[in-house]
Amino acid sequence: MADTTTVNLPKKHRARYPDQCVVCSCSAPGSTVRIAAEPIASYNLWRWLLGMGLTVKAPACRGCGWRLHRRWIGDLLMTFALIGGAIWISYPLLASRLSDGGVVIALLVIVVLGLVPWGIRQVLDPPAFDATAKGKSIDYEFLDRNLARAFATLNQNAKWVEVSGPGGTHETDAGSSDTSTKDAH
Ligand SMILES: [Zn+2]
Repeated sequence: MADTTTVNLPKKHRARYPDQCVVCSCSAPGSTVRIAAEPIASYNLWRWLLGMGLTVKAPACRGCGWRLHRRWIGDLLMTFALIGGAIWISYPLLASRLSDGGVVIALLVIVVLGLVPWGIRQVLDPPAFDATAKGKSIDYEFLDRNLARAFATLNQNAKWVEVSGPGGTHETDAGSSDTSTKDAH
């Protein structure tokens, strides 16, 4: 499992970010990146592609923002190509052997299987920053655990702040210099 620290905040909460690039962690990046927060395998992705979905805006250098977008679009195109190619190759065979209902089920299976490589890459080689909406909350995922902690601290006023992963609260030895975030009341 990769080294991602996840900060979970309410969806309604307006997240505040440290003035640092979410990709390279440099300070005062002077630019922002907007990324889709819809889970990739959900119908919401299609809403997002139509410009209606939930997005998250975070500070990032221009170059870093581009890299995040390039990777996302590259993965999306690869996935479309994979699923499209698999359907194109298998459809004649499926249509000749299965009923209409069977063909629909087989195509759905192909779509789901086609999403697997993307999912595996997200786990083994996660982007420096990502956001995933789940129900009433959003997971903000950071590779830089210090940045994740700073982000969590800045958003202490949210209804809840849950940090998990290497930057999570279960770690006891780190962060002794700034323990002011601990709940005293
Ligand atoms: Zn950067």
